[in-house]
Amino acid sequence: MVFCYYCKRSHDSNVGLVSSKADAAFVTTGFSNWKKGMENFKDHESSSTHKNSLAAIIASRNVSVGNLMQQSLQKEHKCNEERFFTSN
Ligand SMILES: [Zn+2]
Repeated sequence: MVFCYYCKRSHDSNVGLVSSKADAAFVTTGFSNWKKGMENFKDHESSSTHKNSLAAIIASRNVSVGNLMQQSLQKEHKCNEERFFTSN
C-alpha cells in the first residue's frame, strides 16, 4: 500500500484534514491502483487536503516556506515517487 507522506504525517499528528474520499485513499486506506497511481497522485497534489497537509507540516517544522519551496522544486526534477512511502 502507498500513502502520501505529507498527508499521512499531518493526519497522524492530527493537524491535517481529509476533505474528500479520493484523498482518504492516500492517507488512511493506502493506495494500490498503480495503473492510475500517478494520475491520481497529480490530482491529489492539487487538492486542498494535500495543500493543507503540506502547510501544516511546514508550520510544525517551522521551516521557512522559501526553503521548502526550493527543496520541493529541486525534488520535482527527481522522481515523483520519492514522495510516496510504502507499508507492508
Ligand atoms: Zn497529500
